[in-house]
Amino acid sequence: MKRRGVGVGSVVAGMLLAALPADGAEPVRALLLYGGHGFRTNAFFETMRTLPGIQLEIARLPEALERLKPGLHREFDVIVRYDMARAGTAEQVRAFRDLIAGGVGLVALHHSIAAHPDVPDYARLIGGKYLLKAEAIDGRDVPRSTFSHGEQVPVHIADREHPITRGLEDFVIHDETYGGLWVAPDVRVLLTTTHPNASPQIAWVREEDRGRVVYIQLGHGETAYSHPAFRALVGRAILWAARRDAAP
Ligand SMILES: [Zn+2]
Repeated sequence: MKRRGVGVGSVVAGMLLAALPADGAEPVRALLLYGGHGFRTNAFFETMRTLPGIQLEIARLPEALERLKPGLHREFDVIVRYDMARAGTAEQVRAFRDLIAGGVGLVALHHSIAAHPDVPDYARLIGGKYLLKAEAIDGRDVPRSTFSHGEQVPVHIADREHPITRGLEDFVIHDETYGGLWVAPDVRVLLTTTHPNASPQIAWVREEDRGRVVYIQLGHGETAYSHPAFRALVGRAILWAARRDAAP
């Protein structure tokens, strides 16, 4: 959850990266958004563009904020958020919400749960929030969330029936934990952990009208990017959010 600058910047913005579809089907068209939080750009983008069956465009926030509104469904099946954009008005977040509600999938990863901290509609859409400061949610005082780097995180498949997790086994991943997340009551939890520094919910899904939403807390750095379970979960999440078969 460190707030460093982003290293690569606009060099990769708009870069079109394609991966071959797994079964001859049309690839899922995904827009990957980053910005507002540092990360190992080359390693992460390499992980994302080698996911099978997904054609990826990468864009940076807040520059790309104006694109996130109804109409973008003609270009993309899924939006993947790996940003921590602090900008964005309530109106812009509502337009993004309308885009998802209209049927574009949303896969939110890791620190994207802390984006748009001042717009409650974003947390409702994602189904959770990392609180950068204490605040009241639904009339309840919630303390600020916490993070811890370099943890060995035991991850339990809490829902074995969902297409994203079907057939996967429990695993351990070296990653960052988030503690004290606010999690919306309307989510279906897929993954949990018993790590003492972590909120128990590691991944969940929900629906926003016609849009499918996935949040996966994992994914701080290269040990996560290269973990087979992380790759499988993110790839399946994108396919499921796009209403394609997620499980092999
Ligand atoms: Zn992180």
